[in-house]
Amino acid sequence: MFSLNPRFAELGLEFFSQVKPTPLTQRPKLVHLNSELLATLGLDHLSEQNLCDLLSSQSIVSDYPALAAVYMGHQFGHAVPRLGDGRALLIAEHEYAGETWELQLKGAGKTPYSRMGDGRAVLRSSIREYLASHAMQHLLVPTTQALALLGSQDEVYREQVETAAVVLRVAPSFIRFGNFEYFAKHGKIGELEQLVKFVCQNYFQDIELSDANYTLVFLERVVQLSAEMIAHWQSLGFVHGVMNTDNMSILGLTLDYGPFAFMDRYNPSQIFNHSDSEGRYIYANQPNIGWWNLYRLAEALAALNVASDQLESVLTKYAEYYNQKYIQLMGAKLGLSSFAAADMSFLDELLQVMQAEKIDWTYFWRRLSYGEVGQQQLNLDYPSLALELWFAKLNARYQSTELTPAMRQQQMLATNPAFILRNHLLQFAIERAQQGNYQEIERLFNALSQPFVELAEFNAYYQVAPKSSAQIVLSCSS
Ligand code: AMP
Ligand code: MG
Repeated sequence: MFSLNPRFAELGLEFFSQVKPTPLTQRPKLVHLNSELLATLGLDHLSEQNLCDLLSSQSIVSDYPALAAVYMGHQFGHAVPRLGDGRALLIAEHEYAGETWELQLKGAGKTPYSRMGDGRAVLRSSIREYLASHAMQHLLVPTTQALALLGSQDEVYREQVETAAVVLRVAPSFIRFGNFEYFAKHGKIGELEQLVKFVCQNYFQDIELSDANYTLVFLERVVQLSAEMIAHWQSLGFVHGVMNTDNMSILGLTLDYGPFAFMDRYNPSQIFNHSDSEGRYIYANQPNIGWWNLYRLAEALAALNVASDQLESVLTKYAEYYNQKYIQLMGAKLGLSSFAAADMSFLDELLQVMQAEKIDWTYFWRRLSYGEVGQQQLNLDYPSLALELWFAKLNARYQSTELTPAMRQQQMLATNPAFILRNHLLQFAIERAQQGNYQEIERLFNALSQPFVELAEFNAYYQVAPKSSAQIVLSCSS
């Protein structure tokens, strides 16, 4: 079925610990199954029972060692020298149609890296991770994916008693910046080099290890992928919420969905993670934090005898990669065929109006695609003169693009989603699921599969959030 010997295992025991998953025993039940991903992986022959047994660890033979990786991390700016997979276990690697996928159980019990934690994940946070990764996948953002979600009646203790759940996560690799930092920090230079080579050989196969500068080429690849991922986040109003270096994928995938949020009203300073009192991880800071995190990765790579000025000159390319992607995405959202220098201040002008008028991010861009930005069309409390003036300028700007109105609209509708995973809808689905009703998860999942088309049955999902949802703050205790 899968290879129980992932390539990651070949790296050796300095890189992970072998751990037996701890089964969930109290009425484990499949809450949702991502059949589309199951087909992509060529695994549609697996029955729901097979998956239920796999996610609850019932079918994993008792002496089967899964792998928990060791890594470190800069958490909220501070180095934590030893973290690691405290509740995620790599159980297999699967190859299909020329691609490889690691399979991880998140919430499958304690590992040597669990510290004070119980190795579990609660239903609430597992639903969040499951639906968010599906949302991002269909919004065309690089992300880890989720194949199935299992609930149980096993009790876990957070601020209150909750029930345990498991997400089966899938990605080509779950290696993080923190894996590299760990070996540099502990002076394990051979392992650090081994890890860089491992990632190049398996995931960046065009990088020639015979090239004396392969470490720099490797860093540049990570710089580019990370910059592009964050540009995607900004274009969608997505706030990751906990951009510690242990949550940064070396493949530039959105990883570890914790206190994330898709913004409703545009507020670049809104704090969603209640552990983030200083607002380090707000929307406005994400591009800079991406760079800061890459700096930590580059520092780790410096241990490989790479000159720091060379590493730094690679890091300076971050701004270029970021801006290029950001401009491409925002230009498409605006309906432009190319982005001139003057368009940047024009965009900034819009963002200021949106912030001042508290305009809903997703709703605005979708309405703009139809050329509708009036007070009623945007559900504003009062007319916005600033927005009307800006819109007149946009229409003037359209005169100098070569797109026909029809082409423009097509481009805008394909890039400005009608639907994102709004906090209040997600919260509602979680509350229903906690009462044993999974229908709302199914509905959200289906709507998220096609975020760029408006379907009559999901009409209510496309509306702006009620004002009461503006202050949702999320807990890290997941
Ligand atoms: P996060 O910020 O959620 O990505 O987690 C930071 C670190 O804490 C990682 O090493 C996680 O594996 C670990 N961790 C988080 N929650 C738990 C838990 N319930 N049990 C054990 N370890 C955990
Ligand atoms: Mg994490």
